[in-house]
Amino acid sequence: MRNLHDHKSALGINTATFGYRSPIEATIDLCASRGVGALTPWASELKGGNIAAVARRIQAANMAVPALCRSEYLTAGNAESREKAVAANCRMLDMAAELGAQSLVMVVGGLAENSRNLEQSRAHALKGLEQLLPHARDVGVNLALEPLHPMTTADRSCLNTISQAVDWCELLDPDGAGGIGIAVDVYHVWWDPALEASIAGAGGRGRILGFHVSDWLQDTRDLVLDRGMMGDGVIDVRGIRGMVEDGGFAGCVDVEIFSAERWWKTSESETLDMCLERLLSMC
Ligand code: ZN
Repeated sequence: MRNLHDHKSALGINTATFGYRSPIEATIDLCASRGVGALTPWASELKGGNIAAVARRIQAANMAVPALCRSEYLTAGNAESREKAVAANCRMLDMAAELGAQSLVMVVGGLAENSRNLEQSRAHALKGLEQLLPHARDVGVNLALEPLHPMTTADRSCLNTISQAVDWCELLDPDGAGGIGIAVDVYHVWWDPALEASIAGAGGRGRILGFHVSDWLQDTRDLVLDRGMMGDGVIDVRGIRGMVEDGGFAGCVDVEIFSAERWWKTSESETLDMCLERLLSMC
């Protein structure tokens, strides 16, 4: 397992951690000033802007772009909407390519509206990914499937465990040609009794594309926007990093904290300093 003190280029920040308060240019400059090694922006921060200029600014600051966040949902209840979502995600892949991002984070969508047919929503998500994979390969951006905590199954993601994500990768890319893999986010997967075995399985197939860190607060008050700083909650973040690195992952450790009441109300520079301190001491 890497000693992050010797791998500062692996210290990454997902811009959501700052609560989208400043333009992306200011966020890039702030992260650059602290020697951050990688930045993961959100598409909403780039829309309507000059993406090539943003890419140059990130590159000039010697930061990698592990991923662009994130896909549109693939599980709408009618075929027309699902086709539109595929087209929108193709455009998102183009945006990721222009940005120089290695992956597009795929949050696949939950149950279709007014549906109780979870199996069907999962089939639609899988079909959408199948349609996207050739374009992802064409533009050189990986589809990083992010399993989300089961509490999100109804509204955000019917892809819920690493093991399920491994199965989908194998179905879509049985020969291991690439272009598709998994983003492991500790907040979503820490509870899974099969975590170690399924991360090992994903690693064995070279499928781990991203690693996101935050913490689960014991007294969490919101299941989306009350993520904790690493070390403030109950997740063995370092233990899980050991698992993904044992599985061959050598990429960035990206802090991704949605925290409407705490960190989004703290100054961005203070939040960043705490992230970097905790990356080294708790992750
Ligand atoms: Zn994540």
